[in-house]
Amino acid sequence: MSIIVQKYGGTSMANSECVKNVAEKVVGTKRKGHDVVVVVSAPAGMTDQLVNRAKEITDKPSGRELDMILATGEQISISLLAMAIKALGEDAISFTSAQVGIYTDKNHNKAKIEEIDTSKINRALSEGKVVIIAGFQGVTKDLEITTLGRGGSDTSAVAIGVALKADEVEIYTDVDGIYTADPRIVPNAHKIDYITFDEMLEMAGSGAKVLHLRSVELAAKNNIPIHLRSSFTDTIGTYVTDEEEKMEEVLVRGVAHTTNNAKITIANIENTANNIAYIFKTISDANINVDVITQNYINKEGITISFTVAQEEYDRALTLSKRLGKELKADDVYGNEQVAKVCIIGVGMKSTPGVASRVFGCLAQNGVAIDMVSTSDINITCVIPQEDYSKAVLAIHNEFEL
Ligand code: ADP
Ligand code: ASP
Ligand code: MG
Repeated sequence: MSIIVQKYGGTSMANSECVKNVAEKVVGTKRKGHDVVVVVSAPAGMTDQLVNRAKEITDKPSGRELDMILATGEQISISLLAMAIKALGEDAISFTSAQVGIYTDKNHNKAKIEEIDTSKINRALSEGKVVIIAGFQGVTKDLEITTLGRGGSDTSAVAIGVALKADEVEIYTDVDGIYTADPRIVPNAHKIDYITFDEMLEMAGSGAKVLHLRSVELAAKNNIPIHLRSSFTDTIGTYVTDEEEKMEEVLVRGVAHTTNNAKITIANIENTANNIAYIFKTISDANINVDVITQNYINKEGITISFTVAQEEYDRALTLSKRLGKELKADDVYGNEQVAKVCIIGVGMKSTPGVASRVFGCLAQNGVAIDMVSTSDINITCVIPQEDYSKAVLAIHNEFEL
């Protein structure tokens, strides 16, 4: 019998009506003769509320205690869904990740899954039960509760799919597929039928939060397709796979953006490999993720380094950079707490020159200043003023007739 893993996100679990709707879908799949494992998120908005509750007590809750409260949202969803499925006459059982054995490292708030014990899941399936597992959360080997980072239940679902050797993982959400741009920003964005793992990795890595980045990494590494679709309709959604032959030849598959970026500049330091390595080692040792990096020559000896970080890491990164600037005798260290990033993605760029110049031309025509640029063979990323992001996304969307 084939095992199907389905994941339902926050909006799909928002209230009792939604939970009953999900239960109908799950029962429908089960009655087609499949073994069904369901991964769920907390009801929409709940994780934000839990973060706020913690922040009302202290600005800096410890990672451990924050995970303790954040993990509770998903526990509400699993039990309600198990009840709803039983009410429809199918047997179901809910499990937290500690009960299953979804083991992670000890990095609170951004833990990585290391191992999944499938014995309890398989036993319940063999007893004919629908298995419902709390997404987003994990547990360390010494039973400390962890969470995987915001949006992480997509990753829980794919990891469980991989562990169970499922043929496909279905991710049910509030849109009916992956679009050429965030439909909330670009109303005439259109649905993509197929997207490659590489393109989706770039989209997710560039801010399209429709799928958690690590879920796509895991799916690509294990070559397990993801079918992203709506929990409110029965239509086919978008397949994320490596089957390029099914895909229409396009230059640009989509545009993604993020607005929670900040930029830091360390101006005029001596241009040595050691200096550059030292800066980024110090920042990564502080567990700060650096995103776009550019390096400009002032003269033969001097360079200026700029990089972006997430806004929540800005204060720490700036303090650290000021210290580094002093040590390395920089002329100045300064930052901009509010920049945006717009990313243009498509495997077609590999073989067609001129995409970058069209992007720059289009932004210039629309009066959008480009602060930094970074490229890979399938992605052009521009860092721009924050207030211009929706104008930029729309303009590029039109330029490439998406
Ligand atoms: P869930 O709670 O189901 O995990 P999310 O809010 O995490 O749902 O992800 C779905 C949202 O992702 C959509 O409502 C949409 O606004 C946003 N999104 C961003 N970029 C895209 C895109 N390119 N295609 C589709 N949705 C996108
Ligand atoms: N409930 C968590 C969050 O809001 C996990 C998820 O939705 O995937 O981030
Ligand atoms: Mg999500």
